[in-house]
Amino acid sequence: MLHWRVMSELDVAALRRDFPILQRTVNGKPLVYLDSAASSHKPRQVVDAMADYYYHHHANVHRGAHTLSTEATSLYESARATVARFLGAPDPASVVFTRNTTEALNLVVASWGGANLNEGDEVVVTVAEHHANLVPWHLFKRGRGIVLKAVGLTSEHRIDLEALREAITERTRAVATFHMSNVLGSINRVREIADLAHAVGAVLIVDGAQGAPHLSVDVQALDCDFYALSGHKMLGPTGIGALWARRSLLEAMPPFLGGGEMIRRVTLDDSSYAGIPQRFEAGTPAIAEAVGLAAAIDYLTDVGMDAVAAHDAALARYALERLDELEGITLYGPRGEDRGGIVTFNVDGIHPHDVASALDAEGIAVRAGHHCAQPLGTVLGARATARASFYLYTTEAEVDRFVEVLARTRDFFAAAV
Ligand code: PMP
Repeated sequence: MLHWRVMSELDVAALRRDFPILQRTVNGKPLVYLDSAASSHKPRQVVDAMADYYYHHHANVHRGAHTLSTEATSLYESARATVARFLGAPDPASVVFTRNTTEALNLVVASWGGANLNEGDEVVVTVAEHHANLVPWHLFKRGRGIVLKAVGLTSEHRIDLEALREAITERTRAVATFHMSNVLGSINRVREIADLAHAVGAVLIVDGAQGAPHLSVDVQALDCDFYALSGHKMLGPTGIGALWARRSLLEAMPPFLGGGEMIRRVTLDDSSYAGIPQRFEAGTPAIAEAVGLAAAIDYLTDVGMDAVAAHDAALARYALERLDELEGITLYGPRGEDRGGIVTFNVDGIHPHDVASALDAEGIAVRAGHHCAQPLGTVLGARATARASFYLYTTEAEVDRFVEVLARTRDFFAAAV
């Protein structure tokens, strides 16, 4: 059968030259990296920005009155402004640097939840959340008496918005869900969910771990109240993430961690706290990583997030179309619009870890396991799955190679039975 060619505005060959790791081989074969949803690779521009920071500007921030400290502070604060711009946020002070999405979501649950949730209050999540948006609620729930409700999927593997509408009641204080699912690839209709939450006075907390790297995000247009992201999934370094929060909410929230940098005044018995965002950034922050994240955002912005999203979606459509032709492959996640560059699958009769090992032997990196979404695995009837995920540096030829090796793997195992 003839396939639609992947139409992409991106000059992928040129982009790939910025990513030295993509030149390497694995097990004697050219690397085909299809695990960007777990962590993306980094262009030279990001590593160079971090090296330049360390070689020429490093000192602690917000402390010394010396030149290097002023330069480091200015780079760190300008990285904050870059994150704010990238998210369409009006105000850099509403961006808190964290280690990753996980820490950002823990911050919201502990700090906002701690100040605002009481016995009998309800929080609505979905069955497809990453553990980072479930376990913090579980930890918080113990002893608090809040009720956690989970909304299910439609038969097409999208979040069931009708069920969500019904789950939200006058007792709902928060709705917490993903922008794009790390397993289904589905993109949630965040604006509609925000309207449903706000209609009962609840806040909307968005796990943007997959949204920020792959979609054009505008927190004002989405009308969410919190948006969390991880730098390492969006061409940036590990160890840095961010939480954007609506300013009025953030200003009213108590500190999350205590220590240096986040205080106004400390006596032996008590302390008072700095304003936002410093109140939420105890201790020396990840300065070089913030600089690296800003360089990653500059890179993505130069490429254009609409073009990145279109490229990922076109590759996913193409991969699904090719995989549909193979017997014995189960595919998860919706079809059509509102779907990003994630393709989750199983091969009949072969454990996904074996599938991943067979692909790795051919230089192809995919992820296998529960993808930190065990409740979703139960709903899908597949405790483990394999996942191929794409990014701006992924080529159509790589998808072809993946499909061909997968077909061979399936045939090899079938012959061995
Ligand atoms: N949410 C989603 C949807 C994710 O895909 C991930 C990363 N797999 C996370 C949260 C957690 O991200 P991190 O490990 O960077 O905190």
